[in-house]
Amino acid sequence: MPEVAKFYGLEVNRSGMACCPFHDDKNPSLKIYDDHFYCFGCATTGDCTGFVAKLFGLRQIDATRKISEDFGLGLFDRNFAAPIKIAPNPKYEMQKWLSEARLTIKEYLTELYKWDREYAPRNPSEQLHPLFVESLQRIDYIEYLQDILTRGSEEDKRDLYENRKSVVRERRYNYS
Ligand SMILES: [Zn+2]
Repeated sequence: MPEVAKFYGLEVNRSGMACCPFHDDKNPSLKIYDDHFYCFGCATTGDCTGFVAKLFGLRQIDATRKISEDFGLGLFDRNFAAPIKIAPNPKYEMQKWLSEARLTIKEYLTELYKWDREYAPRNPSEQLHPLFVESLQRIDYIEYLQDILTRGSEEDKRDLYENRKSVVRERRYNYS
């Protein structure tokens, strides 16, 4: 704050006081602190940006820009703001996978129920349809997976995520 005040023409004395530019000040009544200023005469106060904004009648953002330019801080240079690299969040990854898995399993289960109804043999001599066989073989297990995905404990879900991902993924690509 003292740097900014001096830079824009305030004469700051040894006790950190200056004549206030915001009112008709004969004796220094503006106190400059490290990070803000306060006028004991007119009660104007603010930080560096606020000071410059008031002094030049600028919006905060433009005051920041002005300080950046005047002090060569380069805050608004194109390359200054380095892209923030977001590290993959394992917790988020798992939640994302779980919600996708829930959908896949639900769709698959719907198919299985349908096959169970539609491809059931009409008479004992009929050859079993492969989709009916699949429904017989898988319904219990897929219901069990769905149960974990919807009502399972965190631990069970994590186990599914870490160890049995392929069970669900396999279905996604082999959908028929
Ligand atoms: Zn003042």
